[in-house]
Amino acid sequence: MKAAVFHKIGDIRVDNVEDPRIEQSEDIIVKVTSTAICGSDLHIYDGFFLQLKDQVMGHEFMGIVEEKGPGLSKLKRGDRVVPFPIACGHCYFCNPDLPVHCENCEL
Ligand SMILES: [Zn+2]
Ligand SMILES: [Zn+2]
Repeated sequence: MKAAVFHKIGDIRVDNVEDPRIEQSEDIIVKVTSTAICGSDLHIYDGFFLQLKDQVMGHEFMGIVEEKGPGLSKLKRGDRVVPFPIACGHCYFCNPDLPVHCENCEL
C-alpha cells in the first residue's frame, strides 16, 4: 500500500510500504476514508519532536473496519470507526482512562 513516510526533518514522501496485518488479538485493520494532518505530524516534520527512524505518518483518521483480531467482540467488519487515540486499553495509562499516554502505542 502507499503511505506518507517521514524520513528526516523536512522530508516526507509517499512510499510503498508493507500491507498491514493482524499481529495481536485486539488489532484492527481500517480502510481509511478520511484523514488530516495533525499538529504532532508538523512537529515531527519540523524537528520539534525528535524522530530518529522512518515512520508512517497520519494518526488522525476515520474509516471502515476491514479485519479484526479474535480478541475484539464489539467490532465487526464494515463498522465505521475513528480509531484515535490508538491505544492498547489495558496498560498503566489506559486503565485509568488516559489512552493518549498508552505505553504500548507506537505512532
Ligand atoms: Zn494528532
Ligand atoms: Zn495502553
